[in-house]
Amino acid sequence: VRIVIVGAGIGGLATALSLHAAGYRDVRVFERVAELRPLGVGINLLPHAVRELTELGLGEQIAELGVAPSTLAYFNRYGQQIWSEPRGRHAGYLWPQISVYRERLQSLLLEAVRDRLGADTVVTGHRLAAVEHGSDVDVASFATDGGEARVVADVIVGADGIHSALRLQHYPGEGQPRWNGLTLWRGTAHVPAYLDGRTMVMAGDDEQKFVAYPVGLPDVAGQARVNFIAERRQDTADGANADWNLAVDAAPIIELFRDWRFDWLDVPAVIAAADEILEYPMVDRDPIDTWTFGRSTLLGDAAHPMYPNGSNGASQAILDARTLALHLATAATVEQALAAYEGDRRPITTSLVLSNRRQGPERVMVLAHERAPHGFADIDDVFAPGELAEIAAAYKRAAGFHPDALNSRPSLTPPSAND
Ligand SMILES: Cc1cc2nc3c(=O)[nH]c(=O)nc-3n(C[C@H](O)[C@H](O)[C@H](O)COP(=O)(O)OP(=O)(O)OC[C@H]3O[C@@H](n4cnc5c(N)ncnc54)[C@H](O)[C@@H]3O)c2cc1C
Repeated sequence: VRIVIVGAGIGGLATALSLHAAGYRDVRVFERVAELRPLGVGINLLPHAVRELTELGLGEQIAELGVAPSTLAYFNRYGQQIWSEPRGRHAGYLWPQISVYRERLQSLLLEAVRDRLGADTVVTGHRLAAVEHGSDVDVASFATDGGEARVVADVIVGADGIHSALRLQHYPGEGQPRWNGLTLWRGTAHVPAYLDGRTMVMAGDDEQKFVAYPVGLPDVAGQARVNFIAERRQDTADGANADWNLAVDAAPIIELFRDWRFDWLDVPAVIAAADEILEYPMVDRDPIDTWTFGRSTLLGDAAHPMYPNGSNGASQAILDARTLALHLATAATVEQALAAYEGDRRPITTSLVLSNRRQGPERVMVLAHERAPHGFADIDDVFAPGELAEIAAAYKRAAGFHPDALNSRPSLTPPSAND
């Protein structure tokens, strides 16, 4: 079986590794850019994704790359704590959650693909232009510096991100991603470690928010590398058309957060210490009702771009990759495998896209703001008993990472691959 993967992001690389683990050898990844230079901001791998990477034999290496957060804590814009929960192994998962530099994660996946599948598996400088769906095979047509390159495949996986060419071909009227009016500024800073040095924090509400988590442990001087995302609703710019990853000046962002000096974190100081700040509109797309066309299917952000509330986009792409490889290895035909993959993954990711529009687990911050806009003396005056715990648990169930469900679910490694 000849398999072509379009896009060497986290989704495409995880697919190549999953297919290799399922016994496939004729796998190639075609990437648009000439040189792979992943972006250097942080990402949280949730336990369901760490399980898959562990079963791909990368668990120890991933753990060494980053920090396993002990706790996730939500605060209001005055720095008062709304909710806090243990994370990863502290929460009873058999696998940790890991906060890493995206760049390091992507380099590790790329290296593993080259080691396991061969140095020439990832072909750069190939931009997918179109796919022809035949009766027996599909043909991918790429634009390259040397002209058009046509590649015949038994399966084509469109892991080509939120601006996917395969998706555009089948949904030509879809247009730009949908912007919800929030602008995100992302950066990393070397700053004094806060709380226990391993806590992911989110402060604010749906108008303005600050998220931070360490991607390195504190050094001897008590300083740690912290990844942050500052967010603010902007009514003016047209976010869907805005430049992505545009480097911007820190001063106006520091000004927006000037009053956010909490006794546990000095937000303006973190923003001021950033090496670089990248601007990004918070966008997603409406869920679609078909991912599969002929022998081609969508995966990762190409299939289900979602708001980053809940830290789930890349983790879901990794689950897609493992599920697709399992079905290809176990179904009778490619068509049945693609249908089973889509049947497993589309309903779950559709509900996540929609849940993230309603703020996902961060809804606790929105509710706290609505009910107590000027802060509170006691959080028990703001939420009914059990309400906060239920919001957190409901999101985990929907995303497939409730500890009970994740710990007991069978592996996605195909049975034959264990021989
Ligand atoms: C602020 C922010 C924070 C986030 N935090 C988290 C988090 O903590 N945890 C988490 O799990 N997720 C997070 N995400 C989401 C995560 O970044 C994405 O879901 C994930 O990177 C998607 O991976 P992908 O491989 O599907 O797509 P991409 O990473 O977009 O990769 C697509 C690849 O395809 C290539 N490509 C595009 N078009 C073509 C073409 N026509 N031909 C060939 N190649 C092409 C691109 O160059 C790229 O290399 C966050 C996102 C944002 C914006």
